[in-house]
Amino acid sequence: MANYDVIVLGLGAMGSSTSYQLAKQGLHVLGIEQFSEAHALGSSHGKTRLIRKAYFEHPDYVPLLQKSYELWHEIEEFSQEKLLHITGLTVFGNPDSQIIKGIKSSRDAFNLPVNEISSAEAQRWNKTFMVPQGFVGLEEPGAGFLEVEKCIVAYLKVARRLGAKLKFQEPCLSWGADSSGVWVQTAKEKYSAKKLVIAVGAWTSQVIEELKLKLEIRRVPQFWFQGKNSFDVSEIQTCFAFDMPYGFIYGFPRFSNSRDIKVAIHKPGARVSDPNQIDRQLTSLDHQWVSQFLADVLPDLDPIPTEGSVCMYTMTPDEHFVIDQHPRFDHVFLAAGFSGHGFKFAPVVGKMASDWAVGSKDLELKRFLRFRPNLF
Ligand SMILES: Cc1cc2nc3c(=O)[nH]c(=O)nc-3n(C[C@H](O)[C@H](O)[C@H](O)COP(=O)(O)OP(=O)(O)OC[C@H]3O[C@@H](n4cnc5c(N)ncnc54)[C@H](O)[C@@H]3O)c2cc1C
Repeated sequence: MANYDVIVLGLGAMGSSTSYQLAKQGLHVLGIEQFSEAHALGSSHGKTRLIRKAYFEHPDYVPLLQKSYELWHEIEEFSQEKLLHITGLTVFGNPDSQIIKGIKSSRDAFNLPVNEISSAEAQRWNKTFMVPQGFVGLEEPGAGFLEVEKCIVAYLKVARRLGAKLKFQEPCLSWGADSSGVWVQTAKEKYSAKKLVIAVGAWTSQVIEELKLKLEIRRVPQFWFQGKNSFDVSEIQTCFAFDMPYGFIYGFPRFSNSRDIKVAIHKPGARVSDPNQIDRQLTSLDHQWVSQFLADVLPDLDPIPTEGSVCMYTMTPDEHFVIDQHPRFDHVFLAAGFSGHGFKFAPVVGKMASDWAVGSKDLELKRFLRFRPNLF
């Protein structure tokens, strides 16, 4: 007989929010994680993640983002933690940049507050940034950043308070499903439940090998920089992003948990065949484009990083997510392939998984479910 209503495999971004949502529905939840709480070995570490609504990736994401904002505020309230910082985000690029066009198309489709900064105004935008000639800017005042590890800790804390059992340092070695439910064999014990949610990030292809999903793991470094010549980094107060010829570079202001300025490139790096074997050593090649950007646009920052860490993107072929019921087992749900832009959606992914678990007919979210045939 099943011991739990739902087992959640993986307690990173998606698994922690799912555990919370399920426990909030009154379900008997078991969460299983191979590493420690809010660890730095997957895809959800590095202090900050951008959140924005004028989504250049596709306007279809906007309703999910609206719901996500609402749910981020909910978990802030329940956990009594400040997780979401609204600082505004200004994105610069050539007027014909796909990113600039994409932001405008989401803005126009949903009438979102986004202010245009003309090319002439961009030159005077901020004395700290040397905005490239001809670039225009789009300022989204409601955008900002999330404190990534703190969000996961908050979700786990509230999930536990609501009765979820959470196990750490306990890798799942195998799992199975039949008409009576699901089972999970970990390095310590065998558990059973009525349903299973798999949210194992970069390990998805290992955990559900039989589906042969076309997911690619990519190595992505992130870096922090300090001011040079006594430049005070607290002069940078908003999130910023530039669509440069060498890639999309973005950064965050300094805040209580970050002495320096984080700047990173949104670009899938080297392919990783096994997430357990990823090269975590950083070299100057890892920050060449970010350092180039600092020389070109933010010369008051020292281009030699003070800190860095290696993270992973799990890419789908079209960079959209895979969130749906398993094609063969109707009591197994998968959330994967977040392609380097999933964190801001963690609350809504947890909500989708819990709606699925209780058989809710929440059509607003349900229309985003997919198991794309081209992923097999
Ligand atoms: C450098 C970088 C910058 C990013 N910037 C942004 C951004 O600005 N905005 C944004 O929205 N998104 C951003 N992202 C993407 C976002 O962080 C990810 O999409 C999201 O965190 C993925 O969450 P996840 O739950 O799928 O994976 P994870 O958080 O990695 O969770 C998966 C968990 O499953 C566990 N697990 C795996 N296998 C097993 C097993 N066999 N048994 C038990 N547990 C297991 C893992 O240990 C891990 O804890 C960025 C990503 C990176 C790497």
